Amino acid sequence: MLIKISGILNRSNAAIIIGLFCYVTAFAQNPDSAFSEQIIHNIKNHITYLGSDALEGRATGSNGSRLASDYIAGNLKKWAIKPIGTDSSYFQNIPMHGSMPLNDSQLLLQAQHNVINLKLYEDYLLFKCGAQTYIPNPAPLVFVGFGIIAPEYDYNDYLNIDVSGKIVVFLSGEPEFDDPEYFEGDNPTIYSYPESKQRIAIAQGAIGSIMIGHPTDPKFSNWDRLKNEFSFEDITLAFQVTSHLSLLLNPMQISNIFKGSHITFEESLEQINTHQFKSFMLNTKISFKGHFKEREFIGRNVIGLIEGYDPDMQDTYLILSAHYDHLGIGVPVFNDSIYNGVVDNALGVSGLLEIARLLKNAELPPRRSILLILVTGEEKGLLGSQYYVENPIVPLYKSIANVNIDGLAIFDIFNDVVGIGAEFSTLSDILEAIARVNGLRLSQIPPQFMGFESFSHSDQIAFAQGGIPAILISDGLNYKSLTSVEALQKWINWADQVYHTPFDDIYQPLNYKAIAQHVHFLYDFCHRLSRMEQQPQWKPGVSFRNV
Ligand SMILES: [Zn+2]
Repeated sequence: MLIKISGILNRSNAAIIIGLFCYVTAFAQNPDSAFSEQIIHNIKNHITYLGSDALEGRATGSNGSRLASDYIAGNLKKWAIKPIGTDSSYFQNIPMHGSMPLNDSQLLLQAQHNVINLKLYEDYLLFKCGAQTYIPNPAPLVFVGFGIIAPEYDYNDYLNIDVSGKIVVFLSGEPEFDDPEYFEGDNPTIYSYPESKQRIAIAQGAIGSIMIGHPTDPKFSNWDRLKNEFSFEDITLAFQVTSHLSLLLNPMQISNIFKGSHITFEESLEQINTHQFKSFMLNTKISFKGHFKEREFIGRNVIGLIEGYDPDMQDTYLILSAHYDHLGIGVPVFNDSIYNGVVDNALGVSGLLEIARLLKNAELPPRRSILLILVTGEEKGLLGSQYYVENPIVPLYKSIANVNIDGLAIFDIFNDVVGIGAEFSTLSDILEAIARVNGLRLSQIPPQFMGFESFSHSDQIAFAQGGIPAILISDGLNYKSLTSVEALQKWINWADQVYHTPFDDIYQPLNYKAIAQHVHFLYDFCHRLSRMEQQPQWKPGVSFRNV
């Protein structure tokens, strides 16, 4: 199932990298050492607090989130890590805007002679909207296929159609072609993200956008689950508040918005599949008068610095990041309404705190400086990392790499690692070499995870968009006791039954030896990277290179 990466590491490169790695790691493959016992002990303490009900799921802007950030800062202080946030504190203050749509919001669909009152949560879900979103006069709808303009693929869904002052309707996902280069084959490109489509719609002058889950897209197949995910407060960076109406439509309503149109939805899908599709005006209109509960508040990233000891290298930085926010309190599932977010991402934060402790006390100290950023607002659209990249504390061009942690190995001791985003930069070579020193292999991301926790789905993408080579290192599917098939099944079950539910809590089974192994590997990776002369470079042709 896993395709081993081969041939990427050229020999001379490998020799240079390996040459730097002549020292031996303390852990190697002994998960029972006192060293890993200490990691396990500390991690248990951290997640027991960060994942407790008292922290109410650490929603961005909540009291629980404030407690979590205080706890993290307290730990950085304990290890004498330098505070370099606002006014020499551990915090970077971020102005944010929160809004929660209320049930008396009114979305009216004019379909020929009928007016249909669409109900919030039942018929549609809102995102990134607020009191500023107001469409009193019915605006016409235009179906724009996937809603993508991608010049490098010579693809444009907006060709010959004027959408200014109108509301666009688009499908989730992106076009599929036989050519593996075109839209990067099975790998989702940036054009598949709803945010990209929304930005394109705004740039084309549309006043609103309606997304329809593609019938073959499993992410949109379970409306009840989506309803739960959208039951949380919507948060944006204060300066990003937009008046654009943005909603996800229940598939049950598709036939209503296509009412009276000369081409049916099914015919459109057929045209899209055979690449014959042209965007067209629908025969329906929509008006919207929303009611929202709104607030302005200050969110915060937690930031600390471990200064490098080498005078020639200490003004270059390795950014180690993990998000500490989670979803908060939401729709109860079996009477539990607290979405504790233990694996996502109290665990990653705990791992980062442990890596910071180890780096700070390393016998061979880091030569470059290590910037620790515990970001907020990840679950709301990577807000904390985006804000950091727009308001960096040390220059982005001196930030040589980002290692992001979102979750850790929880099933079993692993024999291989996967570098999510590694393929874009020489971090893949470095990862392969460091993995080898640790007795691990480098594997490719299993195709089943492509749409799930891939590069775009955590903070590393924000750092990459700031021009910093970024990576998220995950366990592969080769384990000590589990077969690949069993492991994959565990992953699928976890994604399906635990991820973003109240069951991602402290009571789920966690393999602490695997966690300690992962933490130690990440520590070793950061430690070696901080002592390497060469800086990671983007590969030729990678778009982040041009930032
Ligand atoms: Zn999450």
